[in-house]
Amino acid sequence: MSKPCSICNSRDRAAIDERMIRGEAVAAVARAFDKSESALRRHREHIAKAVALVQQDHASNLKVEIEELKAELTRIQAEGKADGDWKRELAAFDRRLRLLELQARTSGEMKDQSTGTTNVLNINLDERTARKMAETFIARARLKAAGGAHD
Ligand SMILES: [Zn+2]
Repeated sequence: MSKPCSICNSRDRAAIDERMIRGEAVAAVARAFDKSESALRRHREHIAKAVALVQQDHASNLKVEIEELKAELTRIQAEGKADGDWKRELAAFDRRLRLLELQARTSGEMKDQSTGTTNVLNINLDERTARKMAETFIARARLKAAGGAHD
């Protein structure tokens, strides 16, 4: 027979559940409450439905906010470009990249919950791509600024 769940019966259960529902890494929760990772992994099954619901809700709220921010930043970037203000353009572009990273991370989280595996590789790839894009953009903006200056 299987043992009763030590986490379900723990007096820290509410705090543990809260952190797991927020999507905190099992290893971090294990350290914080001095529990074994295997016990926490087992316990995650007991709160799987709550975790899935909260993460879906969180992800969809986040998605709406990210889309709004993206639209705003796109507008600022276009304004900067129109004014020939490449610093403003670059600042907006840089923040859009950060949003992209955030989005990649949240979609990684969503994958986590459906497959039960971590999707670290995709996140790293996205960050690397984002950085490369930023570097290319900065190099181009510098070249443009240097070419446009007459001093
Ligand atoms: Zn449990």
